[in-house]
Amino acid sequence: MNASKSEELYRIAQDLMPGGVNSPVRAFGSVGRNPLFIDHAIGSHIFDVDGNEFIDYVCSWGPGILGHAHPKVIEEVVKACYDGLTFGAPTGKENELAALIRDCVPSMELVRMVNSGTEATMSAIRAARGFTGRDKIIKFKGCYHGHSDGLLVQAGSAALTQSVPDSSGVPASFASQTLVALFNDKDSVRELFENNKDQIAALIVEPVAANMGVVPPEEGFLEFLREITEDNGTVLIFDEVITGFRLGTGGAQAYYGISPDMTTLGKIVGGGMPMAVYGGRRDIMKNVAPTGKVYQAGTLSGNPIATTAGISTIRLLMEDPDIYTRIEANAVKLKEAFLARAKKLGINLHVNQVGSLLSAFFTDQEVKDYAGALSSDTEAYADYFNYMLENGIYVAPSQFEAMFVSGAHSDEDIARTIEVLLG
Ligand SMILES: *Cc1c(COP(=O)(O)O)cnc(C)c1O
Repeated sequence: MNASKSEELYRIAQDLMPGGVNSPVRAFGSVGRNPLFIDHAIGSHIFDVDGNEFIDYVCSWGPGILGHAHPKVIEEVVKACYDGLTFGAPTGKENELAALIRDCVPSMELVRMVNSGTEATMSAIRAARGFTGRDKIIKFKGCYHGHSDGLLVQAGSAALTQSVPDSSGVPASFASQTLVALFNDKDSVRELFENNKDQIAALIVEPVAANMGVVPPEEGFLEFLREITEDNGTVLIFDEVITGFRLGTGGAQAYYGISPDMTTLGKIVGGGMPMAVYGGRRDIMKNVAPTGKVYQAGTLSGNPIATTAGISTIRLLMEDPDIYTRIEANAVKLKEAFLARAKKLGINLHVNQVGSLLSAFFTDQEVKDYAGALSSDTEAYADYFNYMLENGIYVAPSQFEAMFVSGAHSDEDIARTIEVLLG
């Protein structure tokens, strides 16, 4: 594979940006090669600056559920651009998006639009603290909720492969307000509640963990979280930045039938533009400024171009509910192909799959938590990654990220991917 133009751009980029990138996992650090620079993408295919073409299973880390450059989304976004890129004043489009979100996710009675998942989780926690008058929060080891100070504790995603679960630059006093429990381990949660009576403002969880690779909740785990938070007057926050509009238009909360107090959305909700949302119970959300004393603001929040992309994407998903059955069926096919590959090569592999999200862990054990995820052989993952890339398939450059199937992946794409996996 010729990557000379990517190599040249990477050389220049490293002098301009830390590691040459604007988000760490893009640097391909854990797969032993330099990143490819992308020229363009359409549907399920992504093209680098050297003209190499790949079937894309990263999908911009989740937003691309319709594939890249969906013609309808592009048409509406371009049209919106001619009306002005930002006003810093309310628009009818914000009403339209907020109403669509509430139709899809009824627990989000009041919503606030922000620009990134990081902002959404940070602000949701502030609102929960303001509402409860408490300081401490619980998060789970290996769950990622963006890079705000208090949430960069035992976080997943790039923080795992970069070996900086606790980032430098975060004051210990901030991190001390964040208590860490183990995913799928009820006792670890019970213990924190017992030792911190009436002090826990919020418990935040990815209802399907997808930043330590994909790790589904065990039967009863989310129900347990719903109960224990309710019993303790703690705000239950589902971080659905990945699962929102991914496991169905109702997200993981509809998929599992659990209603949280607050929800964060990102990725798909912006249809590929910088947009995220937090929201939930009216009595909690009304404490946010200007109706309440929890301050949170944003110059570009509810931006007209981002809301247009979000509205357009959500409408397309609502008009084609079968998309979820299709992408899940394709994910199941890929899972089977992974298992066949493991058998053929005589390697250890464990595949977790929920809806259109999947992860192949290079380990002999079932992956139910962070420790299980860490048991995987990241060198074997790097070999697999490089093999896929050389064969025209772009998967996440890290063991601890999900593989995303989109509605744009054709039968042909899936067949080709299976062929490579079995090859
Ligand atoms: C991506 C992600 C975030 C952070 O979103 P950004 O837009 O990258 O700031 C938060 N939570 C989860 C579950 C995510 O996957």
